[in-house]
Amino acid sequence: MPTLKFAVLPGDYIGPEVMTEALRVLEHAASAAGHALDYQIADIGGAGIDRHGQALPDATLALCREADAILFGSVGGPKWEKLPPAAQPERAALLPLRKAFNLFANIRPGLLYPELAEASPLKPARIPRGIDLVCIRELTGGIYFGRPKTTLTLENGERQACDTMVYRTGEIERVAAVAAATARARARRVCSVDKANVLETSVLWRETVTAWFAEKHPDIALTHMYVDNAAMQLVRDPGQFDVLFTENMFGDILSDEMASVCGSLGMMASASLGTAGNRHGKPFGLYEPAGGTAPDIAGRGIANPCAQILSAALMLRHSFGLDALAAKIEAAVRKTVTQDGIRTADIAFGRPPAGTRAMADAIIKNL
Ligand code: NAD
Repeated sequence: MPTLKFAVLPGDYIGPEVMTEALRVLEHAASAAGHALDYQIADIGGAGIDRHGQALPDATLALCREADAILFGSVGGPKWEKLPPAAQPERAALLPLRKAFNLFANIRPGLLYPELAEASPLKPARIPRGIDLVCIRELTGGIYFGRPKTTLTLENGERQACDTMVYRTGEIERVAAVAAATARARARRVCSVDKANVLETSVLWRETVTAWFAEKHPDIALTHMYVDNAAMQLVRDPGQFDVLFTENMFGDILSDEMASVCGSLGMMASASLGTAGNRHGKPFGLYEPAGGTAPDIAGRGIANPCAQILSAALMLRHSFGLDALAAKIEAAVRKTVTQDGIRTADIAFGRPPAGTRAMADAIIKNL
């Protein structure tokens, strides 16, 4: 059985707390399946700034380059808030990592078990079966990275700023492949979101996606939706979506809306896949909870470890090709939270809450 080699970057505040538990779950699941884990832990974010003077220390980046995937916690918090924007842990650690590994496709499951319907701001009648969709977002193109990007003063004294939205067909097709692979493992339905009634990039997006799916995956049901409508439909009837597929800025906004509709950040995992393949013939990827460092609850042993554990499951699936093992962890989390009713404070709704460690213990038992 091959060894699973990955870099572990816990980060700040609750990052190390939930990472410790995710590693215990991973160790347990992997060893039961005969896989050896080979990982090293390194500083990132505020911890990197405090100990090495760099949010992304050189040694941490070198460790990541040696690995087949990165299991990431989260970075930042009040301790580093006064630093200039460019030196803030999130910007100075995560963005360079995305760039270094060309992490072009973000996969965010929007999963709300029916038993946790109370966590959603939506009325229970709108989500009778909970929520289960996946958002695929292009992550390295579009308006966040397009050039020119300028601010200048006009002759009349007004200031004018400009961002540029750019997409090439190759960029669209490679992320379409991720959406198709995701849909293939689910209900084979993709809703591609754009603003093709206004934007040139969206016209290209729609034409490219349509042609690409028709050629490569004619059996996948592809639909299109304008982004303003998608934002409404997500709160009106999230159950209509299976795979929601979109460009960078639209995905930034819609995936956060999706997270909010799904309730607790403590349950939300994510994966960002790179262009390079790893030693397992799978994409190199970075796997992290969708939430942040939760400084308000850090150090008390009450953070929900599920998002980190589910991110580790995504790593097994996408970067190591261990789909069955990933599904086993996902099932254990589900059983713990739903049938066993073991819940951390963020999803307890009046039940006696379990701590971070107790939740992970219960998940391990269910493995
Ligand atoms: P946050 O996601 O950390 O917290 C929002 C709320 O959700 C808080 O009430 C928090 O307690 C709760 N929450 C989040 N994760 C939880 C968990 N696992 N269990 C239980 N409750 C959980 O967002 P924020 O407060 O806006 O940000 C805090 C810090 O995290 C900021 O410095 C921000 O920049 C950083 N951040 C980092 C990342 C990242 O590293 N990718 C992402 C988002 C925010």
